Amino acid sequence: MKYIIEHMEEGFSEWVILEYTQIIKEVGKENLVLTSLPANTTEKDIPERLISLGLQWTTKECVEIDNRLDKSKVCLLDPAAETDLVPEDASKYEYFVFGGILGSHPRIDRTGILRKKYGFAGKRLGSLQMTTDTAIRTTQKIVQDQIKFEDIKFIDYPEIKYNKYESTEMPFRYVLDKEGTPILPEGMLKLIEHDAEQSIDDLLL
Ligand code: SAM
Repeated sequence: MKYIIEHMEEGFSEWVILEYTQIIKEVGKENLVLTSLPANTTEKDIPERLISLGLQWTTKECVEIDNRLDKSKVCLLDPAAETDLVPEDASKYEYFVFGGILGSHPRIDRTGILRKKYGFAGKRLGSLQMTTDTAIRTTQKIVQDQIKFEDIKFIDYPEIKYNKYESTEMPFRYVLDKEGTPILPEGMLKLIEHDAEQSIDDLLL
């Protein structure tokens, strides 16, 4: 299975770096390609942390990464698709394309740009919005581990406690680990705490 992220954010925010780092660790650097970076991108523009993990990246669009790319073997993970991804899809598709998009609440349909541009078959991962790393983790469980969507344990809109007194509600669906804790990229809790403090400081200004 190859996982493709069409990078649609401007540059690389810390949030994006943490998500992509986690994805590389989980799917393996040889199975992930970051596509559609701006035409003038050079290695200097890619965060060192991602380069050192062996991130494969290109300014080409996902349809251009392989001359023999058979479009019928590509599946776009699309929150607006009509059918959900199932384990049997592993034999239909080789490439799984995701939007490298930060979540927004309420959801803005930016995945629609990819849907209209490429016309790949689209599959949904349930009705709730997930972060890109959660969407890839869920896809991996379905097509590689052959676990049905309904058998994966999720938590919706968890209250993420980042210290003893403070917490924030995340408007996404997350996969739970064996201990029943939502899986977030390493370092994300600290970043959420930092962002929350920042917004309080901004309010106090
Ligand atoms: N507001 C965004 C949108 O739909 O344009 C949500 C983007 S989501 C944070 C990032 C990517 O994860 C999406 O482009 C899609 O590939 C995947 N994704 C997230 N939730 C999904 C779902 N419920 N079903 C299918 N794909 C999903």
